[in-house]
Amino acid sequence: MLSRALEPSRPAVMPPVVLCDRQGYTQRLYPDRRVIPFDLDILGRRLPLAISYAQGPVILADLVPMARTLSDVLTGQLRVTLEGFDRSASCRVGCAHCCYYLVPVSPAEAFHLERKIRTLPPPQQRAIVGVFRMAGRRLLKRLPEYQLQHADTDRSAERLQRLSDWYASLHLACPFLVNNLCVIYNLRPLACREYWVTSAPDCCRIDGKTPPTLAPLPVRIAEVLTDVCAELEGESEPVLLPVALPFAESQPERCRRTWPAHVAVERFLDVLLHHAHRNSMADREGFCATDAATP
Ligand code: SF4
Ligand code: SF4
Repeated sequence: MLSRALEPSRPAVMPPVVLCDRQGYTQRLYPDRRVIPFDLDILGRRLPLAISYAQGPVILADLVPMARTLSDVLTGQLRVTLEGFDRSASCRVGCAHCCYYLVPVSPAEAFHLERKIRTLPPPQQRAIVGVFRMAGRRLLKRLPEYQLQHADTDRSAERLQRLSDWYASLHLACPFLVNNLCVIYNLRPLACREYWVTSAPDCCRIDGKTPPTLAPLPVRIAEVLTDVCAELEGESEPVLLPVALPFAESQPERCRRTWPAHVAVERFLDVLLHHAHRNSMADREGFCATDAATP
């Protein structure tokens, strides 16, 4: 079933980097592409996957469609596996407490979003650009307040956490939330795709009394892609979704910077497998600690 889901449907133009099957469909359809196989473990179940890419230069945005498919495959498989343990996600259409939190996106996602918006018909383009302008203005108006309060030099992870807490205190809905529905659902950021919980929806409220229980993904592709961007560019940090469009528009050269495809894909896989290994070690240590603490 998984390999059928990944079977390419002969698109007129195949994206430069895609997640593909291990059955050879992609190789038969596109013999000039290179394929790198890899495995991921989901709660003890091995998931055989592969990345196919065209040889030549790629930009950071070219990694995004593959990263999204990988994220959707992982979350889909995890849902199925959790159901086998009688656990399921609480996330439902119209449930949107999580859309009041800060959504960080990697530079690759910001550049990809900008390219996607530019391909929309002009009326839609104008509408989305307008939404971004309004959200950006709303945020920037409040930002100096935050900077004054936190003018110290935090480590990046701490800074992101503080920024996240500050953002939550503003109670601003995501600019793409309309009538409690995400209007860019198919294009929503990796951070949104990977934020789903097994606890009650009320735990996701900003003023919730109990913290939510996040689904145990073996690896978060949002974090992987942010680290890949940092390694390829030599410096980088997550961008806030409401200012992602002006961020991308202000750096056309950075948007167009290229790397040989094999360099970008091999870096992505290195970071992905490193995160997966690190997370599985942390889970094992947590499990052993719980075990040791059991009388
Ligand atoms: S993460 Fe929480 S608020 Fe968001 S859809 Fe799921 S249950 Fe609802
Ligand atoms: S992009 Fe969509 S899913 Fe993500 S926070 Fe905004 S409205 Fe919610």
